[in-house]
Amino acid sequence: QARVVAVDGPSGTGKSTVSKRLATQLGAAYLDTGAMYRAATLAALRAGLDLTNTDAVTTAVHHAKLDFGTTPADPYTRLDGAPVDAEIRGPEVTAAVSAVAGIPAVRAHLIAEQRRIIAEAPAGIVVEGRDIGEVVAPDADLKIYLTADEAERARRRSTENNTDITTTAADLARRDTADAKTTKPHEAAPGAVILDTTGLGIEEVVDRMRRLLND
Ligand code: C5P
Repeated sequence: QARVVAVDGPSGTGKSTVSKRLATQLGAAYLDTGAMYRAATLAALRAGLDLTNTDAVTTAVHHAKLDFGTTPADPYTRLDGAPVDAEIRGPEVTAAVSAVAGIPAVRAHLIAEQRRIIAEAPAGIVVEGRDIGEVVAPDADLKIYLTADEAERARRRSTENNTDITTTAADLARRDTADAKTTKPHEAAPGAVILDTTGLGIEEVVDRMRRLLND
């Protein structure tokens, strides 16, 4: 039976990096659900919509042609046939994504898509996000909740994006607070193993996850 690994936690905990590595080592697929919310946000921004108009945003997301590659070596995101991997991680989308992810009908649409992708992964899948262990895949074979202290999260994110550390720290805190209205970025799902990655290297985290999977 195909295994499902759920990886949740706030921004800057290294979720994407370790989830991709783990998927590669397991020969499994990889799904970045944050990229899905980001692509939905880009669709709404491109349509020039007021993001508080939840009906209009929902309609735009329903009509957007979104494609998500689930190969961990090349997990692309496409909107209307074109790659948007860089754009969805830029400042405009990052500033707007919590609002779009907070629209219940948008979540329902993307969660259905996530469940479809999970069901269609023959060799198993590593899925990362905020609500995977609790909502999207509550029956996952392994649930991991990644944390790291705030300073380390800001340091990692600012190195990754080449941004100023103070601005990055403020941005992470703002987004976690906004996300907490919708998901529980600071809470582990029932049954999740909590892994504090502060001071741990990527390989160390991946090794621990593999050991948990084999237990
Ligand atoms: O993980 P990443 O930082 O790319 O996620 C971007 C945003 O997408 C989060 O800040 C959150 O608003 C939303 N998100 C969500 N549920 C998920 C994954 C991401 O609401 N499962």
